[in-house]
Amino acid sequence: MINSAQINVAVMERFRRLTANHRLAHAYLLAGPQGTAKTQTAWALAQLVNCESAAVKPCGECASCRKIASGNHPDVHAIGNDEMDSIKIEDIRFLLSRAQLMAYEGKTKVFIIRNIELMTPEAANALLKTLEEPAPNTLMILTTSVPEDSLDTIKSRCHVVKFFLKKEIIPFDRKVFDEMILNRNNDAFLKELSTDPQETSKALRLLLSFFRDVLLLKSGVSKAALVHQDCLKEAEKFAARRFEDLDLIMRQIVRTKGLVDEKLNVKMSLGLLREHIWDY
Ligand SMILES: [Zn+2]
Repeated sequence: MINSAQINVAVMERFRRLTANHRLAHAYLLAGPQGTAKTQTAWALAQLVNCESAAVKPCGECASCRKIASGNHPDVHAIGNDEMDSIKIEDIRFLLSRAQLMAYEGKTKVFIIRNIELMTPEAANALLKTLEEPAPNTLMILTTSVPEDSLDTIKSRCHVVKFFLKKEIIPFDRKVFDEMILNRNNDAFLKELSTDPQETSKALRLLLSFFRDVLLLKSGVSKAALVHQDCLKEAEKFAARRFEDLDLIMRQIVRTKGLVDEKLNVKMSLGLLREHIWDY
């Protein structure tokens, strides 16, 4: 149930410190777009505050961690999922009726309420009262994927923890093709590339093998035989150019490679290569 690959590591680290220093507040709102690991992190937090291990928490292996992972811990309660249309006052009341009881076996009773934007106004009011008068040894973890500004009253009674989408990592190969073949105004890319000889060499090797594909295509070799199957469109476009143009490009790639090896003016040479690729 808990996928460690989907836990926000930075948030967990922060909570580990808070717990170790006994500075955990009674309510947190995990706010951020969908797909930012809020739910998984919420469950991992429930494990953290109840873990029985003396080492790094949550250990994932003690009885408490395992019960929470399987959804069977008597002191950890959750409501809200992606299929619900709304969270009603009955749902909140049922959940909160458990907040008044002593913890059965855990150190801390944990209540996870997902997608709090789905609460009806009555449900939100009931929750607000609990947030104002928290029972001892309880931890409320709320999540929302709408901007938390629209939940002012709830927000003012919780600590807000923001979750962000991680930047998509574009593979280096794709980036080279995008910048060198598809984008004429790639000054920033060329500048960055030219500061790293290894990356420059890698990029030039890629371009060389791409233009070999182009020459093969132009000589009538079938597309299936080409190396860069994800750049067939681009290869076809270049195959329409004259042999002399393509030869010029290939020679400029080789020349630039030589300059990288000798640590000479690589950036200027890359700029010239760009001119050859684009001007015909
Ligand atoms: Zn544990």
